[in-house]
Amino acid sequence: MSSVFKEKETIQLLQKLVEIPSPSGYTKEIMKFMASILDDMQVTYTQSNKGALIATIEGKDTSKHRLLTAHTDTLGAMVKEIKGSGRLKLSMIGGFNWNAVEGEYCHIHTASGKKVRGTILMHQTTVHVYKNAGSAERSVENIEVRLDEKVTKADETRALGIEVGDFVSFDPRFEQTDSGFIKSRHLDDKASTALLLQLIASIKENDLKLPNTTHFYISNNEEIGYGGNSNIPAEVVEYIAVDMGAIGDGQTSDEYTVSICAKDSSGPYHYDLTRHLVDLAKQQGIEYKLDIYPYYGSDASAAIRAGFDVKHALFGPGIEASHAYERTHIDSLKHTAALLEAYVLSPMETE
Ligand SMILES: [Zn+2]
Repeated sequence: MSSVFKEKETIQLLQKLVEIPSPSGYTKEIMKFMASILDDMQVTYTQSNKGALIATIEGKDTSKHRLLTAHTDTLGAMVKEIKGSGRLKLSMIGGFNWNAVEGEYCHIHTASGKKVRGTILMHQTTVHVYKNAGSAERSVENIEVRLDEKVTKADETRALGIEVGDFVSFDPRFEQTDSGFIKSRHLDDKASTALLLQLIASIKENDLKLPNTTHFYISNNEEIGYGGNSNIPAEVVEYIAVDMGAIGDGQTSDEYTVSICAKDSSGPYHYDLTRHLVDLAKQQGIEYKLDIYPYYGSDASAAIRAGFDVKHALFGPGIEASHAYERTHIDSLKHTAALLEAYVLSPMETE
């Protein structure tokens, strides 16, 4: 198996990434950080109007290209309403359930650049007052932000600079255990983003010669459905989304292997390209699971929907409790890194 994987560096980078707030629509800071890393590695890149970065490394064959994408945008929320009590109602960004963020600490990012601290709670949280604290619906009506400021009226909240339309980010609560687990929000898809950056670093450091020109597309609008569906160079033949594997009842995916997706809600991924990934894993002793994700779409399927004529595939680390307080294991990152390297170095199968 590959020697590329640098555990300590990858985990450090991942922690940095999850700690930069980046709900979809509010990704300037993280993309600036991504650009600075690419600058340090002296990789050339372009930026789309939507804010995505497309880094390119030339290969022996410059006529047929590959593209790999991971996304830096995450779930989050926006201030929907300032309540009479001075607390905030939220509007969701991305797809999750309110119970997945109940009790989470958050920041409200005001227009002037100030960050106000708060906690996401049910209105009926106190069991000493609300009989239905446990059973009340976790809904947009009942979920609110309690600000860590002395406010009891809407005007006082506005005086802090908070307005409707301000972005709200959730604390990642990053933790690495001695047993090799990484627990954090936003492992989707910052785990894959860290792996892509590490792959670029290793290509540069080891002066690896790629068989085909390869683009690394850092997208910033995946959670809302249109991250990597534009600015795809015309020469791209193969398009790989590197994104999380879905774990749960009936799923083969787990936290210890790389998950290769045969089909999701958008339909089957390209059969031959998917087989190519499976063959590479088998040849190189990379532990993998082939799976179907029932409620899932990726930037690769978004590109297909947008009309791009590419062969598309999807693989990535298995993420437990996705779109909630997520977890994966270092083994899953290791096997994903190995498959990434094996893929970019493999000859392109074109018929
Ligand atoms: Zn994702």
